[in-house]
Amino acid sequence: MTPLVGKAIWVLGVIGWCIVRYPHGRRARRTPKLRRTDHARELVLMAISATGLGILPSIYVIANAPAFANYASGAWQVWLGAVVFAAALWLFRRTHNDLGRNWSITLEVREQHTLVTGGVYSRVRHPMYSAFWLWALAQALLLPNWIAGPAGLIGFGTLFFLRVGREEALMIETFGDEYRRYMARTSRVLPGIY
Ligand code: SAH
Repeated sequence: MTPLVGKAIWVLGVIGWCIVRYPHGRRARRTPKLRRTDHARELVLMAISATGLGILPSIYVIANAPAFANYASGAWQVWLGAVVFAAALWLFRRTHNDLGRNWSITLEVREQHTLVTGGVYSRVRHPMYSAFWLWALAQALLLPNWIAGPAGLIGFGTLFFLRVGREEALMIETFGDEYRRYMARTSRVLPGIY
């Protein structure tokens, strides 16, 4: 299978993601914040994640670089990647709808922040991060290049593991026992497993 199909599906997936996120980014800029944790650290983590999920794969898609890391992929890999990216976009849309005005790109607490525990938040605490893991997995399947493909898993994985504990600490600080009870009955990103 030509790498072009995988590249095209990856580009469509990223465009789809931008379309889903756009209205939420606009609303978030207008929603007042109450508390914000270490913003510089958050910006560095987001830059690492964006390098893996956006910059390195874009270089590969546009310039076919680094060419030494290319390999031949099978059709199954590309179609599976398309299905996984579609699942990521579906989950991404659901999480944005469920979180509503409580969403922030970095770790922040909004004025009148409410704890969301329903919808896709009823079984996992971080379904939006599950959606990013799915995107990263789809990218590894869609782009037959040993650097651009897995870059998303490494870039987003870095943000995830350095953020998730602090995010839960912030939620405990804000919601106390309500969040502790929510933690006791949910998984982080994969229902029943992690
Ligand atoms: N980790 C979540 C949310 C990501 S957006 C997920 O993966 O789905 C990050 C912001 O969401 C954080 O600033 C935090 O304030 C907020 N947040 C995280 N979990 C929340 C919840 N259950 N209810 C309301 N806000 C939450």
